[in-house]
Amino acid sequence: MLDMDHATNKNFTFVTGRRKYLLFTDITGYGEITPILSSLDEQNLLYMVYYFNEFSSNHDLKTYLSQQKMGTYIYASGNWNSIISFVKTAEKAGFTEEELQIKGIGERILRVFCSRCYAINVCKTSKEMVCQSCGQSLSVSNHYSRRYDAYLGYTILN
Ligand SMILES: [Zn+2]
Repeated sequence: MLDMDHATNKNFTFVTGRRKYLLFTDITGYGEITPILSSLDEQNLLYMVYYFNEFSSNHDLKTYLSQQKMGTYIYASGNWNSIISFVKTAEKAGFTEEELQIKGIGERILRVFCSRCYAINVCKTSKEMVCQSCGQSLSVSNHYSRRYDAYLGYTILN
């Protein structure tokens, strides 16, 4: 799983020298995209803008992203659910952290797997939390389990 923590409160940085730019957004994220659009226009660079919902499924999105050539760079901004889903798909299509920037808007909700009692907790952005099922203090890791569709929460010794 790509590390998404760095993206939470960081503004987009304009990256030059790429073959093509793909911008993905929604109504909440569009304001974050506009400065990048201006820079791309000023420098006459090739780009495409999409709304997340233009792709009817993650499969369609993955197919589209897989067809992109080397040197394609992605900016994605929108609500957290769209961003998390988008990043998972982009990763499957072969994109790495060096090839995209993301910015989530609003509240980020995470699913966290308790490594003690195996319960799935739902929480907001946090480094530490208490399992609602067993009361264990957990450290929320960046380790994402596809099997549980959740981040692993490691037990903290009190
Ligand atoms: Zn627990």
